[in-house]
Amino acid sequence: MKQILVEYCHGQSVAQQLSAVSDELSANRYKNVLFHVYSGILDGDMLVELCRQIKTAFPGCILAGTMSAGEIKDGRLMETGVLISALLFETTELTMTCFGDVRGNEQKTGEAIRELIDTTQEIKAAEVLLPGTEITTRVIWEEVTRSKPGVQVFGGYAGGHDMSIGEHYVFDETGLNDNLIFVITYSGRDFHINVDKSVGWSTLGHAFKVTKSDENRLIEINDRPAVEVYEKYLRINRYDNFEENTFEFPLIAKTEGDELLRHTLNVEDDGTLDMAGYVTDGMDIYLCYGNPSLIVDKVNQRLREVSEFRPQAVLLYSCSVRKAFWESYVDIEMIPFEKIAKTGGFHTWGEVKRDPSTNFVWEYNITLLSIAMREGEKPEGSLGEIKVDDTLLKGQASLIKRLTQLVSATTGELQKAYDDLAQVNEQLRILSNHDALTGLYNRRRLDEFAVEALDKAENEDSLLSLFMIDIDYFKNINDTYGHEVGDGVLVEIAQILDDSVHKFDGGAVGRWGGEEFLAVVPYADKQQAADYAELMRRLCEEHKYLDIDDRITISVGCVTIKGKVDRTKLFKAVDDCLYEAKRRGRNRVIHAEL
Ligand code: GH3
Ligand code: MG
Ligand code: MG
Repeated sequence: MKQILVEYCHGQSVAQQLSAVSDELSANRYKNVLFHVYSGILDGDMLVELCRQIKTAFPGCILAGTMSAGEIKDGRLMETGVLISALLFETTELTMTCFGDVRGNEQKTGEAIRELIDTTQEIKAAEVLLPGTEITTRVIWEEVTRSKPGVQVFGGYAGGHDMSIGEHYVFDETGLNDNLIFVITYSGRDFHINVDKSVGWSTLGHAFKVTKSDENRLIEINDRPAVEVYEKYLRINRYDNFEENTFEFPLIAKTEGDELLRHTLNVEDDGTLDMAGYVTDGMDIYLCYGNPSLIVDKVNQRLREVSEFRPQAVLLYSCSVRKAFWESYVDIEMIPFEKIAKTGGFHTWGEVKRDPSTNFVWEYNITLLSIAMREGEKPEGSLGEIKVDDTLLKGQASLIKRLTQLVSATTGELQKAYDDLAQVNEQLRILSNHDALTGLYNRRRLDEFAVEALDKAENEDSLLSLFMIDIDYFKNINDTYGHEVGDGVLVEIAQILDDSVHKFDGGAVGRWGGEEFLAVVPYADKQQAADYAELMRRLCEEHKYLDIDDRITISVGCVTIKGKVDRTKLFKAVDDCLYEAKRRGRNRVIHAEL
């Protein structure tokens, strides 16, 4: 296959201007021709006439036109003009389908595209070209995601240099249309395609949550009007050239398995942001910025893959935001592709690509989509290393490079400090609620539990039981075996009590102090509470303690209440029961009701 790129000059014969294409067609055997017309000039009559003349000069060809925010010829940005790309195929079969009347019929359109992909013989790829506005595309891509796995899907959104004046048409010889999707299928055993995106924008600061959204409208972030993220963190005022000031700081959404960049097209009066792609509730989003060295790294990574693939033609569908970001340097990330194969394309208002591992069709902003095509086997040998020449990034761009390096290094450090702090806070929380020796709740936390449980019993007029557990003759154990072995016994008993209390929903046990423990158990009636106390007593008595030959027992004082009871009175009653258990000879349970 072969790609021929021609910059169209209005007023001269189209057939003459495309003579390179007709010469090639007569010199070699080609089966099919696909014309892309990328136009930065909105002149409906001129474009329709151009398409008509191409169709007449090349009967049977396929043609799709898109408005563009910049045309890419031989890997370079053309100043506002009209670019014709002719892709000549030796064996590949092509089809072109126009899906009209899309707005409001997104579901049906998605289903129809899926059907087309599923029923086209030996299909390898489907290209989608569509107007960059006001279509609920998420619904379409969800349908196309379900089409035959392994078929590549790629494409771009049409739009002129200035989105605000509505230059977002696709077109062909029948006219301009902002409510129609072109789908071109590429099929055949010999056709090979390799598509991927390069990004390189870095996150800035911490994550926010999308809390309210509606397709492309980002309404609230962290429960506040979305615009406030720009106002608070970047001092970008909503009434002061908001769109121009924010394009350098788009949002990046992290979803399962991918990162979706989104840039802002407009801010509404209530602070809602109109984005160039859809967002969904619950997404984690970050502010981000273009990091020149990372962008170059990502493009270099992609150049290695494309040069390894050995394409015969490359299409670049690159976001218009990248053009605005690079300004006069924009060519540096596109020119190297021309060293691999003839490279044409356009600057878009959104990019589409299917993830080969999940088959999900994603809609992106701010990516450089490189579409590498080949017919037949890969030639022998290698092209050598092909890289972005970043020596051009001098002066201002090098200042940006250093500043972004500073921001990315400090953002990384802040994130780490934030993570460390969160970890320390978690440790502090555990320490402040737990006893260091046994790991059970401490007295502070038990007090809280008791207060909460009493409130609940009062509010619900429900049952509640409190258990005070004291180890019998514990002093003797310390005296006989030493304090350390005594500590070990406390840990073992704590474990027994903790295991048994979890049989009750909402039950909790902790160390009250010394060799005393307190358990709080809601909803158990008198019999259940007595059984539970008896179970704890028996388990402690029957347990074989490490390094200890003697039997160890506990005494338990237990009180069950219902509804409202004074806290001091309750604790006094539990203490009295425990005292009574000790007095009656220990290793026993004394239970009372209040
Ligand atoms: P009683 O059956 O009347 O409860 O007898 P007792 O020996 O258990 O009671 P007493 O209050 O006389 O002694 C409690 C002992 O518990 C004294 C103290 O040394 C020991 N003790 C308290 N806290 C700890 C601890 O953290 N580790 C160890 N090893 N011993 C402790
Ligand atoms: Mg005691
Ligand atoms: Mg004791």
